Amino acid sequence: MENCIFCKIIAGEIPATKMYEDDDMIIIRDIEPKAKNHFLCIPKTHFKLLADMTEKEAEQVKRCLKKIPELKELLQLENGYRLVINQGDDAGQTVFHLHIHILSGQKMGWQPA
Ligand code: 5GP
Ligand code: ZN
Repeated sequence: MENCIFCKIIAGEIPATKMYEDDDMIIIRDIEPKAKNHFLCIPKTHFKLLADMTEKEAEQVKRCLKKIPELKELLQLENGYRLVINQGDDAGQTVFHLHIHILSGQKMGWQPA
């Protein structure tokens, strides 16, 4: 998708600290961390909302959700972690390519109200 920063990162056109990559996803460090460890797991297909997902895209998201705990040492998730998916403007979504925030460690932001 043109003008999508995450599509550009996936294509290698913009640099990112890449933690993991396979055919379905890329996991990078968030550029403005809101917790001690803050990663983004980004399905490689461009879509904005869970509500928009095709079955194939839903499979990619499922693969992301299964992969994250498999990488717990690499991502320093041993003591627990939080997953966040912002959906739409009112949730503060700023990049309209679906992504899963992975947050762990001290100073964790976004405490539930
Ligand atoms: P959203 O608010 O859409 O759920 O989250 C977007 C996230 O992407 C933010 O936490 C922001 O810091 C991160 N982000 C935006 N641009 C870049 C970038 O170019 N590189 C990386 N690594 N993260 C980015
Ligand atoms: Zn995209």
